Amino acid sequence: MKAVIFVVDGLGDRPDKNGNTPLKEAKTPVMDRMAKEGICGLMNSVDIGVRPGSDTAHLALLGYDPYTTYTGRGPFEACGVGVTVKPGDIAFRCNFSSVDENFIVTDRRAGRIENTSELEKELDGLKIDDVEIIFKESGGYRAALVLRGPGLSDKITDADPKKEGKKVKEIHPLDDSKEAKKTAEIVNKLLKIAYEKLDKHPVNEERRKQNLPVANMIVPRGVGQVPEIMQFTEKTGLEGACIAGTGLIKGIAKMVGLDVIDVEGCDGTPDSDFMAKACAIVETLENYDFILVNVKGADEAGHDGNYELKKQVIEKVDEMLDHITKNISKDEVYFVLSGDHSTPIEEMDHSADPLPVVLWGKSVRVDDVEKFDEFSTYKGGLNWIKGVHIMPILMDLMGLAKKYGA
Ligand code: ZN
Ligand code: ZN
Repeated sequence: MKAVIFVVDGLGDRPDKNGNTPLKEAKTPVMDRMAKEGICGLMNSVDIGVRPGSDTAHLALLGYDPYTTYTGRGPFEACGVGVTVKPGDIAFRCNFSSVDENFIVTDRRAGRIENTSELEKELDGLKIDDVEIIFKESGGYRAALVLRGPGLSDKITDADPKKEGKKVKEIHPLDDSKEAKKTAEIVNKLLKIAYEKLDKHPVNEERRKQNLPVANMIVPRGVGQVPEIMQFTEKTGLEGACIAGTGLIKGIAKMVGLDVIDVEGCDGTPDSDFMAKACAIVETLENYDFILVNVKGADEAGHDGNYELKKQVIEKVDEMLDHITKNISKDEVYFVLSGDHSTPIEEMDHSADPLPVVLWGKSVRVDDVEKFDEFSTYKGGLNWIKGVHIMPILMDLMGLAKKYGA
């Protein structure tokens, strides 16, 4: 048996004044059929009443306790952009920013500079004391920063003043340990070096000539220490892959050892193409036992407060599911359909509202739920579960769960 966990990012919502949600109103014949043929319930990816980030939610869905494995966004971002991180590394996400000579931020994204590969070379490979600096731009003004060396800690503040017109913050240790003190000192030194190297760099001289904001500073945030994490295959015995559009989710997948499949598409369409992803899922299932899928779009629409768009994205996802369910066998694949968190239109951010979830496949106890939405699946046989329950339930159905006791 094989398994798919299919995550519609930001799927859930709260009722509008007419009692509707994008999912409830969207035409989703395939989701509804899956609800009818499967076992349904509600799910909180992290915990009841907890507003999850996409990262912590996906860790939980993969069967990892986010409270012990999640140390911050940095490690997963760095992993997602292709840095081979090691346990103990300290990782950040970074912006290239524009600052004046007093380190006052004049543009947080350095005019959304597009090519920073020359600037990356100035910082990547530096050594400060006994610490190695790994620096990788991840498309334009974004980058990942990793510190590797003995005696480092992630118990430090970050540099992001969050507003233009404010000074890049000095890094401070958050506890009395010598590790935190050392790490803060290294990052402070790095920021000074970065300014010296980047401010006079030819790329920035050229931007000055063109009256464009210079990328003369890096602003690290989202610090975390790369955790010791048991690899997915070791934990489950399953060969796993991930199909996702965002670097953060790809980073989580890589961190646990899933192969990240970059989707070119059946007909050469780009990564964002829904149907290309659907084709890729079917193809990937031929070579893997397990796939984690993340589909973007609904979450962004939720953050923008765009009800109609969220509804349209969900309808597109239904078309994906049509292609997938027609090309896989219920006798061979268990399919979990849910989200990672709700992103209600009224909140324009993630909320703790539980998500509808359906588990579709052979030998599940089919319940009498006939519609897949926030108001229908609670009557289902899965009841109310957490994200970390999904993998054990799948493992049991697949005949892979170890017996607890005699
Ligand atoms: Zn999300
Ligand atoms: Zn979001």
